[in-house]
Amino acid sequence: MRIGIDLGGTKIEGIALANDGAIAARIRVATPRSYDASVNAIAELVAKIESDVGAKCSVGIGIPGAITPAGVVKNANSTWLNGRPLAKDLDARLGRPVRLMNDANCFAISEAADGAGAGEDVVFGVILGTGVGGGIVVAGKCLEGPNRIAGEWGHNPLPWMTPDEFPGAACSCGRRGCIETFLSGPGFEREFVDHRGRGESSAAIVAAAERGDPAAAEALAVYRDRLARALASVVNVLDPNVIVLGGGMSNVPRLAESVEDLLPRYVFSDSVVTRVVKNWHGDSSGVRGAAWLWPAAF
Ligand SMILES: [Zn+2]
Repeated sequence: MRIGIDLGGTKIEGIALANDGAIAARIRVATPRSYDASVNAIAELVAKIESDVGAKCSVGIGIPGAITPAGVVKNANSTWLNGRPLAKDLDARLGRPVRLMNDANCFAISEAADGAGAGEDVVFGVILGTGVGGGIVVAGKCLEGPNRIAGEWGHNPLPWMTPDEFPGAACSCGRRGCIETFLSGPGFEREFVDHRGRGESSAAIVAAAERGDPAAAEALAVYRDRLARALASVVNVLDPNVIVLGGGMSNVPRLAESVEDLLPRYVFSDSVVTRVVKNWHGDSSGVRGAAWLWPAAF
């Protein structure tokens, strides 16, 4: 049995994943806002799950950042984790080696293992949520890269910007016009306020578009076109077999299908066979991918 843990900004979720992909136990707790308390909470969650399933398990953890080659956390928006040797501390606390991985990579691993990208050679997993991230799985193996940023397309600039889009809003990374500032949920909402003068949640804008509201429908058409442009620049470099959409914005109706149809406008190829699909495992993909960080049961 494998334990997977998703260390989120507001909650920590843990599951026990059986070898057949079934979830044998699931627990959620609020994320403490300090390092030591986070380590404690993870250790307690592992102990509780192992007691529930009656077995010692491997432990994989998805984190909102990356582990540097020196073994410390970086780029986490849960800033109390940054610079801390989380893997080493959890190894000691749990008495076994623990594997940590960026949460977008965990999403890609999950969907490549037994989700919407199963059976494909090159899978690009995309998170369109509070932030925009991604992960790359090639022949079943997650590509991390020496800087541990493989797949971080959200902090490239939006390709083929129109004069209206240039230079784009300020991004949390310190630059302007990043893909994340256009395609994250908050970015989509900010654009709607800026261009339509209405402050509404992403879900409300999507619902209005479904009812035939012209401004909301137009905003979503622009969103789909921007997503197609942004993904086309990934296709030109990586040429994945399949792109799997995840995160809250992946729930926009017909998003994957319409972006797949738009890709040929922008990809450098006279024919484009890249599939764009919605994820299969929804909110559970990250935590399932964390469990899959270990290839076999302990
Ligand atoms: Zn950025």
